[in-house]
Amino acid sequence: MRRRSFLRVIASTGVVAATYRIIDVHAAAPTPPSANVEKLYLSDAAWRERLTPEQYAVLRFSETEFAGSSKLNHEYRAGTYVCAGCDLPLFKSEWKYDSRTGWPSFWQAFDDHLTTRRPIYAFRAPTEYRCARCDGHHGYIFEDGPPPTGLRYCSNGAALKFIRA
Ligand SMILES: [Zn+2]
Repeated sequence: MRRRSFLRVIASTGVVAATYRIIDVHAAAPTPPSANVEKLYLSDAAWRERLTPEQYAVLRFSETEFAGSSKLNHEYRAGTYVCAGCDLPLFKSEWKYDSRTGWPSFWQAFDDHLTTRRPIYAFRAPTEYRCARCDGHHGYIFEDGPPPTGLRYCSNGAALKFIRA
């Protein structure tokens, strides 16, 4: 798609979540999942039964929750953040920090529990990350995080469950 018509598509959609879904069509091949992670495949009906409507919208439809809407923004107790779709651990509480963006943010993840895909046609679009077990959408990786990684895993709280240590 030529850049000009691509921008027109973005302008016409109006919402960020829809923009990312369009970009997804042109995304580069995702990174292969870790050999240590057993895949979970469920039917759409089973996902609807298993997840709340909000979890379903984020995990299965790559929607983005409203900034500041997640209770996990204010969660700083010791524990582990797992995928709300399949319970695979994704982040430790010590990797969480306040990014002041309104979304739960981490500077590190259990790397082999995530897959990533990079949009190739979108200018400066961030890399998307998904759960390696259930392929649920979680968020995007930005390069404005704190040391030592300099990364910010910008997560939808609806896609995570907090397990207190
Ligand atoms: Zn999962």
